[in-house]
Amino acid sequence: MVSDGKRYPAELIARIELLQTDITTLDVDGIVNAANTSLLGGGGVDGAIHRAAGPELLAECRTLGGCPTGQAKITKGYKLAATYVIHTVGPIYHGKAQDAELLASCYVNSLALAGEYELESIAFPAISTGVYGYPLEEATPIALGTTLEELPKYESIRRVVFALFSEKALKVYTDSLLLC
Ligand code: ADP
Repeated sequence: MVSDGKRYPAELIARIELLQTDITTLDVDGIVNAANTSLLGGGGVDGAIHRAAGPELLAECRTLGGCPTGQAKITKGYKLAATYVIHTVGPIYHGKAQDAELLASCYVNSLALAGEYELESIAFPAISTGVYGYPLEEATPIALGTTLEELPKYESIRRVVFALFSEKALKVYTDSLLLC
């Protein structure tokens, strides 16, 4: 559930970090991939992650049988600094209520996997805001709000990085976090 105008405790907000960076460079326990339902690679952040991880990542992804929109699956990180990659499939934006539910599910299910694997640090890209066309201003409160709702369930996760590719995305996230 994403709440409007709710203030979260400072110690919870302190577990969130906003960085303008290429997610493939981050030395965290797990990075989240904005994949497609085939899990067989694509463009954008997906392509960058597969290039940086090497062909073994695709080989492991082939064993997973794809992933439905809103769900998440975990693999090893291979040549990445990150130990794991959590592959989640964001919704293609249609401007319908279901988009928000599916986008929130990506964060819920990715954090659940991170909790299950007892990851201490995880990095998210701005899921669905590239080729899938989700407006950044609409997606950002869902990303931050859902994460802040779920994080108290997972004591192991001390650090959640939002890896923003552009200066604009960093600003939208910074402004949105100030309202949380
Ligand atoms: P989707 O299909 O879910 O929209 P994209 O990969 O097209 O996924 O884009 C998702 C977001 O990831 C966009 O905001 C895009 O700018 C960003 N992005 C692309 N490459 C990287 C990267 N290497 N690191 C972090 N973010 C990235």
